[in-house]
Amino acid sequence: MAPQLVNGTVADRPRFEVWPGNPVATLWGTMVGKKVVMAATGVVLIGFVIAHCVGKEAADRAFDAAACIGCGACVAACPNAASMLFTAAKVTHLNALPQGQPERDERTLNMVAAMRSEAFGSCSNHGKCEAVCPKGIPLEFIAGLNRDVIRAAFRPRREPLVVHGAPLQPAHDDA
Ligand code: SF4
Repeated sequence: MAPQLVNGTVADRPRFEVWPGNPVATLWGTMVGKKVVMAATGVVLIGFVIAHCVGKEAADRAFDAAACIGCGACVAACPNAASMLFTAAKVTHLNALPQGQPERDERTLNMVAAMRSEAFGSCSNHGKCEAVCPKGIPLEFIAGLNRDVIRAAFRPRREPLVVHGAPLQPAHDDA
């Protein structure tokens, strides 16, 4: 037998309540509840967008650092013969990415120790390296490298870091 329509609805359709004791379902049944759910989803969406933007910033930074071709023009132009722009670019390339975090401190200290063991000078902010770099590696990467060295040196850890070679004293021409 065909179901009867009463006021535009099926009269004999059995009515099921989904989780009758569920407070979320009860809340969703009210106008205030719908607004609360919409506000919560909005907050989640904004959080997702912010997290996505931060991730893109890190990816852009790593991409910029990866542009270094190791030409050595920065070292040649520096009055201290410092290779800090080159080293900073190589360190930033991996340190900026999530994949580079597990060995970040060890890599940073080893790169700086290798730079010092080859008797390169230290940066004293002349800025000649940035001016001549054909890939536009910015001076701020050196500041980032210095921050990473401090982080690596002072961060407490369970196991001691394996650093090959002790850093030498800086060799400035104006020291
Ligand atoms: S000049 Fe620029 S591209 Fe060349 S080694 Fe230095 S940082 Fe890298």
